[in-house]
Amino acid sequence: MIFKLAGTTQATNAHRISTRCPHCGHNGTFELIGTDMANQGRIFGLRRCPNERCLGHLFFVKDSNSGNILITYPSDTIPFDKENIPEKILNAFEEAIVSHSNNCFIASAIMIRKTLEEICVDRGATGRNLYQRLQDLGSRIVIPRELIEGMQELRLLGNDAAHIESNTFNEIGKDEVEISIEFTKEILKAVYQYESLLGKLRSLKRPTAENNFSRTFL
Ligand SMILES: [Zn+2]
Repeated sequence: MIFKLAGTTQATNAHRISTRCPHCGHNGTFELIGTDMANQGRIFGLRRCPNERCLGHLFFVKDSNSGNILITYPSDTIPFDKENIPEKILNAFEEAIVSHSNNCFIASAIMIRKTLEEICVDRGATGRNLYQRLQDLGSRIVIPRELIEGMQELRLLGNDAAHIESNTFNEIGKDEVEISIEFTKEILKAVYQYESLLGKLRSLKRPTAENNFSRTFL
């Protein structure tokens, strides 16, 4: 996207920029840095994150009529929990998320597939194609059955071929990529995070009188 800056003037007042910080993930009203500039119904400016431990930089372009933020840089990314995710899988999924936030939906779709392939390899899931491998994976992890059944609606999983055709990717838009990211987040949670949560819950379990008896006398 190009914004041409002929006849730029200083904005008459500072614009309120409330958004999620791409650096620390907190929501906030960002603090003014310098002076906002105005050009052809758009406002251009710099802000910093109000979180004292972050103070991260943000550049924005805003439509002065509608008040909508048109772009920010760095762009905001879909948040997800990184705990316990192996590095190779995390790298692939982060690339999918960054591609999505920059409106590169085909690149994002390819990296979502790569993330899911890596999870199947990591967990030894078998099958003729990715769709079947995910079904195999689904039978071994704690995940709603409906979610595994519903994934056949995702064209990017290409349920009838070992490799989906490159023109299938051209048909995949923002909505399908976003649903696929949400689906992948659920798979990641089920494979890597529920187990760790269960472990933490079990470590909180207090010894009962019966357990104490067993420990002492058996
Ligand atoms: Zn921040």
